[in-house]
Amino acid sequence: LSTELESLRHLPAESTDGFLLPLYLNTGLVSESRPIGIEESAGVGLYRTELPFLVRDSFPGEEVQMANYRKVLTTFAPRPVTIRTLDIGGDKPLPYFPVVESNPFLGWRGIRVTLDHPEIFLTQVRAMLQAAIGLENLRILLPMIGSVTELDDALRLIQRAHDELHDEGLSVMRPPVGIMIEVPAAVYQIESLARRVDFLSVGTNDLTQYLLAVDRNNSHVAELYDELHPAVLRALMQVVSGARSQEVEVSICGEMAGDPLAVVLLLGMGVDSLSMSGGSLPRVKAVIRSLSRARARELLKCALQFEDAAAVRRLLMNTIEELG
Ligand code: PEP
Ligand code: MG
Repeated sequence: LSTELESLRHLPAESTDGFLLPLYLNTGLVSESRPIGIEESAGVGLYRTELPFLVRDSFPGEEVQMANYRKVLTTFAPRPVTIRTLDIGGDKPLPYFPVVESNPFLGWRGIRVTLDHPEIFLTQVRAMLQAAIGLENLRILLPMIGSVTELDDALRLIQRAHDELHDEGLSVMRPPVGIMIEVPAAVYQIESLARRVDFLSVGTNDLTQYLLAVDRNNSHVAELYDELHPAVLRALMQVVSGARSQEVEVSICGEMAGDPLAVVLLLGMGVDSLSMSGGSLPRVKAVIRSLSRARARELLKCALQFEDAAAVRRLLMNTIEELG
């Protein structure tokens, strides 16, 4: 099987009826100078910036961050690299920035922290913009957006960072800006949010956790955590249709994008791209190359009629088995 997957390495992720679904890489979580999947991926769909913040004993400055972002932008250029602004808090606390909360996942995390500390946000965005000079392949992604106000505030700060650098005489690009869709409130405001940005990226890890009220890291409730839950599928349908109505690209960057079963449904929904860890690329590509988009649509229609995740999973298991 592995040689079979290996032989797909240089073939596109294309369905049997010719629909191309670009596959991007998630990276940044571990320190790797050449992440697996560099050659096969269409670029980076999610670069998590927490690591350089986690391994230090104080906030990294503009120069340190810039060198870091420059490295990943250079490695993948001219392919796009989507860099997410700091998503600390929740399951990613910083040792030198202690926050005591009884409910960290519902607390001060992601964009909430950086909007309260614009100096952290501005430093990071300035570092990203300078790192992209001459490469121009940067895209900026904002985590944990739950309201239009948060998004407008963040967009204003990005504009400010850009204007400052421009006034300093640097020829910085205006990068496409997108948001993570991972807070349920964002799903219900999808059109207002989509209208303001260049792309959407669905964080199914958090979206599932928040929709189902199931802690993504708690083994006692691990069985309840299921991305194939009908509520999650319906939320995704709403996000895709909101994105379509505003003609904005939508991608999936949570673990779901690397799950061969779920990918059948995502292909059926018509998402524009998937982003996953390098290890998942070959299997996902194999699934996409084994069925038509028309078939994926039929399966999606069928899956949406089921009332529980187990039935959806059975349907997809049977399908994958049949496809070989
Ligand atoms: C997600 O929530 O699905 C996601 C991709 O972000 P993270 O796992 O970093 O929270
Ligand atoms: Mg998340």
